[in-house]
Amino acid sequence: MKVFKIDDTSCGICFDVHYITGNYKNINIRVNGSGVVTVSANRRTDFDRVYDFVWSKRKWIYRNLQRVVTRQNNFADVMRGECLYLSGKKIPVSVKKGKGNKVVLSDETAQVTVRNTDISYVAKVILKWYGQLTYVQRIFDRCVERCTFIAHVPHLSMRISKNRLGTCYPSQNKIVLNSLLAAGEEHLAETVCLHELCHLIYSGHNKNFYTLLQKVQPDYKKYQKQAKEFFPSYYNALMQCGQ
Ligand SMILES: [Zn+2]
Repeated sequence: MKVFKIDDTSCGICFDVHYITGNYKNINIRVNGSGVVTVSANRRTDFDRVYDFVWSKRKWIYRNLQRVVTRQNNFADVMRGECLYLSGKKIPVSVKKGKGNKVVLSDETAQVTVRNTDISYVAKVILKWYGQLTYVQRIFDRCVERCTFIAHVPHLSMRISKNRLGTCYPSQNKIVLNSLLAAGEEHLAETVCLHELCHLIYSGHNKNFYTLLQKVQPDYKKYQKQAKEFFPSYYNALMQCGQ
């Protein structure tokens, strides 16, 4: 792996690029959650072509890097293990060592008892705890009532995922939601529920699908964008990892 620099003094854009070669078909640029820019290209591709490609995308890359910084600032306290999010609200975390692992909410504080007070261990206990909450189930039930086009109430199961907020299996009449939805504001969980419920009728993202979604949630575009931004960023901050 090589590292090269993109430096455009005319607009104050300057960043390092990690360059990897392999059996790749195209030139690809990635900005991860820690702000590392990587370009991958076929080993036979001329370096000048790779450099020119990255240069042509410098403003897009820079915008992404700024987004990473904003995210890191927004979730700095989560990354330090000082708080968690529940229903869009910040809750202070107090950690103590004990025999079992549990999270109890009391006096607007999340009292976390853990066998091991290591920050990454505590994060895993918190992540598991989201799966035990009934908050998302309640939002889901309300959304099902709003979707009068549904003939049979679908089966709901929960799991933790970094990027997948929900999945719909129309042939099984089943929806899987991310337990982490309990961390965000209610309308974010709602938008994911309604999206997946509309997939029971139209499995793909076609015009009919969006017409139906628009009908049940006129503001879906705004909330969908917020959900896609909030949950993976929060997951990364909680688990202290890149994207
Ligand atoms: Zn979808």
